[in-house]
Order: sequence, then structure tokens, then C-alpha cells
Amino acid sequence: MNERIEKIFNNSQSIIFYWQAKEGWPVEFVSKNIERFGYNYSDFASGRVQYADIIHPNDVERVLDEVVSYTQRGLAGFRQVYRILDGQGAVRWIDNRTTIERNDKGAPEYYIGTIIDITEQKEAEHYNTLLGTIVSQSSSEIYVFDRISLKFTYLNPIALESGGLTMKTARTLTPVDVKPEMSLAEFKQLIAPLSRKNSPMNRVSFETIQRRADGSSYPADISVKLLDIDGQLQYVSEVRDISDLKALEHEREQQHTYVQSVLDGLSNEVMVIRPDYSLEWMNKAARDRMKSEWIADSEDPKCYEVSHYRSRACEGIDHPCPLREVLKTKQEVTVIHNLSHDGIDCYVNLVAKPMFDEQGEVTSVVESAHDITSLIQLQEKLREQADKMSHEATHDSLTDLPNRRLFYDRLDESIKRNQRLSAVMAVVFIDIDKFKDINDNLGHQAGDEVLIAVTDRLQTCLRASDTIARLGGDEFTLIIEGVTDKKGLAIVLHKIMLAFDEPIKTHAGSVDVSLSVGASIYPLDAADRKTLVRYADKALYDVKVNGRKGFKFLMK
Ligand code: GH3
Ligand code: MG
Repeated sequence: MNERIEKIFNNSQSIIFYWQAKEGWPVEFVSKNIERFGYNYSDFASGRVQYADIIHPNDVERVLDEVVSYTQRGLAGFRQVYRILDGQGAVRWIDNRTTIERNDKGAPEYYIGTIIDITEQKEAEHYNTLLGTIVSQSSSEIYVFDRISLKFTYLNPIALESGGLTMKTARTLTPVDVKPEMSLAEFKQLIAPLSRKNSPMNRVSFETIQRRADGSSYPADISVKLLDIDGQLQYVSEVRDISDLKALEHEREQQHTYVQSVLDGLSNEVMVIRPDYSLEWMNKAARDRMKSEWIADSEDPKCYEVSHYRSRACEGIDHPCPLREVLKTKQEVTVIHNLSHDGIDCYVNLVAKPMFDEQGEVTSVVESAHDITSLIQLQEKLREQADKMSHEATHDSLTDLPNRRLFYDRLDESIKRNQRLSAVMAVVFIDIDKFKDINDNLGHQAGDEVLIAVTDRLQTCLRASDTIARLGGDEFTLIIEGVTDKKGLAIVLHKIMLAFDEPIKTHAGSVDVSLSVGASIYPLDAADRKTLVRYADKALYDVKVNGRKGFKFLMK
């Protein structure tokens, strides 16, 4: 073949085949540019590969049938589009124009095919169809409008439906005709950055209200781009109905407001505290507590500044830090803080609960503070009352001395103690002489005054470790600790006698008072309570019958 023609073939986009009209279509000639398809000229020249072999298996039957049909119809040539497999087995789309060469009888002898690779074009077509389907099936409304006139050039079916438009009427409208919120000037200003040269923005998004054909409107999220469509710059706007999203947002806001107002209604202070003591959230009670002079950074108040008016985190027995405790234990913690503000003592019960992230780490702590000062005060009052009641149960109301019950308890204790220490102690019974006469002469009140004065005088004669009790009426008892012997005791009893040398003054006049005293000594007289008491009582009786005013030890 002429070299020049061969060169032309090789540089051409078209590949030329010349194949026989026989089974399998053996190739008589193929231009060298078949190498574009990954085959060698020699593959065909040697007969190893025939033309029918390179046709895509799914297309081969159709291609053969068509060729038979075109040939039988007596056509000089025809055109087919089908797939072949290239030398690497990849699929290529080709546009094949074939001329039939017939013999004298009109029977086909050769086919001359001119083949052009249209794979890229086919793929582009495919994607265009795909994109077309996506756009037309999209649940978003898509509007394409002219860059200059802003008139719509395309609306996808859902956009047409929403606007109650046909494509024909839509072409007379611009986006502002379906956006009641916006004027043309405002809209132009909004999308202006897109057409500005070297603009960093390739998309403009905003929320607006969109109008439907039936007059109703809905909130929409709009995203506008400037795109090259068929060599022409056009705006493409995607409109998404965000009614559901807005409704959800509204519901969330309402829920939030509801929860906020419930928590604001609490008298307890509630705070959500981050691990660095900063506050994520506060209810009204907590906010009301804030004193600006204690907040170092008003943008970032700390829990201890807000609730405790402190400049550093809580610590110590009076202020254990609940936050640190929760971070350590990852569990709910309750602590009591004893605070003193403006000289007023108060107690706060703090309950702190952890809040976790998905990894199980504590992100923050919800702390609720309940003022329990009145509760604590009530407890103290109750304790005082209980103490008072127990005092009253063990003391005489007139002289405030231990009563009979406490006297016997003290006596039991004293016996045990002296036993342990091998020490000596005395039990003393005292009865005022002729006390009835004092009552009769000066009155009962003066009698009471005498009883109190007797108490005072006895107290001056004794040590703090000793016990003075009033058993009832004009009868007193003593437990005198640390006596050495009868002589030592006699000195104390003598002192008591002397204490009554002076008359006692009452509101009704002075009166001479004398005492009859009987005593027994532990362990000299007895080692048990009953006997010690009996002996002391007996000694007292002896003093009474022997003229009163004096003391006596037991004469066994
Ligand atoms: P004696 O020398 O024998 O002891 O004669 P007495 O008059 O003191 O007789 P006694 O000890 O038996 O009487 C005690 C009196 O004390 C009887 C009672 O009226 C009186 N009395 C008892 N309790 C009280 C009291 O709480 N207040 C007053 N003012 N008198 C009381
Ligand atoms: Mg008496």
C-alpha cells in the first residue's frame, strides 16, 4: 500500500477494517492505528484474531443479525453502534460505518468498516442520563436560572409541582417570585459574591420562606451555585424543605424552655459543673446567689465563686469538694458544707451526680444544693430539749441538785471507783431539824428559800468531785470522796456544822437552821450500797432521837 495513504490512516481517528464476508469475518486488512485498541496489525493479518472475535459477547448476535439484514436488503452501506473488547479486555464503544462490497451476482464479498472510538462520549451520555434522573427524582426542589435575567431555565418536577408551574410559565419567572420574603435587589446582593471574579465563595446558602402554588408557605434551606451548563454560566439553586427540621427545633426549644422554667422554679441551687470548676449551666436560684465582687472572670465564673464566695476550690472537713469526689468515684456523692456568711452560720446539703460521655468519662457534674440550716437548728433544739428532759428526770427542780435516782447511780459508780482504787469514801445523810416549824412560821416559800440556802452552804463545804443530792423534803445526801478515815470525815462534818452558825435570811425573816447528820464509810462500815445507806440513815436517826443538831458515825 502506498506509504502516504498508510500514514494518513495511522494518524486518523478512524480505524479501517477490510474483512471477508465469511464466517467469523477474517480480516484482510486493518489500518495500523488498530494499536489504539491494544491490538497488533499482525494479530489480524495472521488470522489468529478475526473481526467477530473482538465484538463484545453481549452485542455480537445483534451486530451479526443487523449485518445480515442490511446486506439482504441490498444496501450499499450501514452504520452500527456497539461495544468491542480491546486488547486488554476493556469495553470500548464504537461507531462503525460499513460499506458492502458485492460480486457480480450481488452477493457480499467484503465489508469495509470505518470505526471511531466513542467510549468517552457514551460515558458522558450515560452520566448525563444518570444526573438527569437524579435531578428529576430528587426530593429537593432544583431551580436553574439565567445569570443575567435571573429567569428560570429549568425546574425539576418537584419544584414545578411545588410552584404549581409548567416549564413554560416558569420561564417567565425569577426566584424572587417564589420567595415572598425577598426583594429582587436583596436577592441579587445575596448571590453577587458567586459571580465576582476570584471570589472564594462557590456557594451561597441561606434560609428563607418559600411559597407554594396553593398560597401556603414553608421554611426552606437554599443553596445557590454558579455552574457552567452547556458552556453557559447559570445559577443552580437547591431548595430543601426544612419544615420538619424547624418543627423539631421548635419542639426542642419548647422542651428546653419547659425544663429551664421547672429548674428555675426550684428553691434549690442547681449547677452543671465542668471538671475545671467552670459552669456549664445554672438555674435561677444559683444565678441569684452570684455576687459579682466574688467572680474573678464574669465570662467564666467558677462554682466556688458563685455558691461559696471563695476564691479557690472547696477543701477540708467543713467544705469537702463534691466535684473532685465524683470525678474520683464516678458515683453520686452527698456532702454537707458548713458555711459562715456575714456572721450567719448555715449548712448546705450538696448532692452531686456525674454525667458521662459515650466513652464513660465524666464530662460534668450536676450539683444540687439544699439549705438544711433550719433542719440542723431544729435538730439542735431537739437535742437541747432531750438534754433538758434528761436533766429534769435526774435533778431536783428547786435546788437543781441530783435527785434520788442520780444519787444512787453516783453512789454505785463511787463504790466501783473506790473499790478499783482501794480508796475510802463516805455516805452522809442530812435532815434539817424542825423544818416543819420554819414552813409553819415563815411560810412555804421561805421554807423553799431555806432549802436553797442549805444547798449553797453545803456546796461551800465540799469539793467539786463530791456529790450533794436532795432525796426529797428536807433530806440531803452527800458522797464525800477521798476521806482518809473517821477522823478526816469528822473534820468535814464539823465544817458543815459550822457553816450553819449564822441564821439563814429569807424574805420573811431570818431563821436559825441546824442539821442532823449521820454517816457511814466505805469500806470501813460496809462495801455495798444498801448497807452503807442503811447505816448512814440509822446514824441520822440516832442524832434525831438524841436531841438533834449534830453528827454521828455508825456505831455497829
Ligand atoms: P425533824 O427535826 O424531826 O426532822 O422535824 P421536821 O419538822 O423537820 O420533820 P420532817 O423532817 O419530817 O419534815 C419535813 C417537812 O418538810 C415536811 C414538809 O412539810 C416539808 N417539806 C417537804 N418538802 C418541802 C419543800 O419542797 N418545800 C418546803 N417549804 N417544805 C417542804
Ligand atoms: Mg426534818
